Amino acid sequence: DLDPLPPMTPEFLSVLNKVCEQCYTDFAPDELEVSVREHILRDLESFVRRQFPGARLQLFGSSKNGFGFRQSDLDICMVLEGQESIDDGNCIIIIESLARQLKKHPGLKNILPITTAKVPIVKFYHIRTGLEGDISLYNTLALHNTRLLASYAAIDRRVKILCYVMKVFAKMCDIGDASRGSLSSYAYTLMVLFFLQQRSPPVIPVLQEIYDAKKKPQVLVDGWNVYFFHDLKTLPSCWPQYAKNTETVGELWLGLLRFYTEDFDFREHVVCIRQHSRLTTFNKQWTSKYIVIEDPFDLNHNLGAGLSRKMTNFIMKAFINGRTVFGTPIKVFPPLYPSQME
Ligand code: ATP
Ligand code: MG
Repeated sequence: DLDPLPPMTPEFLSVLNKVCEQCYTDFAPDELEVSVREHILRDLESFVRRQFPGARLQLFGSSKNGFGFRQSDLDICMVLEGQESIDDGNCIIIIESLARQLKKHPGLKNILPITTAKVPIVKFYHIRTGLEGDISLYNTLALHNTRLLASYAAIDRRVKILCYVMKVFAKMCDIGDASRGSLSSYAYTLMVLFFLQQRSPPVIPVLQEIYDAKKKPQVLVDGWNVYFFHDLKTLPSCWPQYAKNTETVGELWLGLLRFYTEDFDFREHVVCIRQHSRLTTFNKQWTSKYIVIEDPFDLNHNLGAGLSRKMTNFIMKAFINGRTVFGTPIKVFPPLYPSQME
């Protein structure tokens, strides 16, 4: 039971819009910071090759998906040339040996192999930049979902800005750290994309549902179809609703908070960006969890699976408070930073 929101004013909407735009300009990395990441990657690759001559390293996650922060971690995937895949046992052996090798790198510290996780990784800290990173092996689906997110980011700048705003909001409300029982950045990004697909008129299409052939093309990776439409130049002619939505980022941000607190029925429906029609928790047999977010490729993967009941309530409360804070026009604004309070 939510309190009704007071009427919105154009002045407040304009401030809201500025705050959203500001999030993006304040947190997005510049060209130099982007190239530093590539540089670290190349350096690590040549270092790792001393031990594993066929190693190829690739960045993924927010270094590549268009929603990276200056301080976002470096997500790196390693593969060995001429080898298609790796089994769990060998994966752990290589992760441990990779960790021993990285410990000799003078530019890194805090090397930590984590072999018990679903995706085994070696964590590291890059001293000169202060960036943290991890290397995983054959994390192929993650490379594909990174490309999918990057394509959505490239369609409309509002997508990018809104995903930044969502990530800042999640960090500020302390609901954005999967390692501490909440949801990952990736999960929140999927929530933003789903909202933008369901908005009327939609801001973005469902790229996995656009194809000229009668049947959806099959591109199988780890047994899942990773096909999506990526010829974005031709999107205006392939998607009739292209550029129909003209809302501002501020309007969309408030729209998103209202969508997830007023309209979307978490008990019935799945946050699902691979199809436009509603997918039910019943269809998926995922009725024991309240927040259900389906991975766009690995359809057995619910990103909300790890949430406790308490954490679920905490996240929902953050959205409800967000709706009130951003949905209630005020004339006088509190200072942005404590130093402005004098
Ligand atoms: P951040 O800027 O917070 O680092 P990120 O998108 O890089 O954002 P990470 O948690 O570092 O988020 O995850 C890196 C990448 O790994 C994601 O972009 C996604 O491709 C993949 N990934 C992360 N968590 C999951 C998950 N639970 N299921 C599937 N893929 C995931
Ligand atoms: Mg990351």
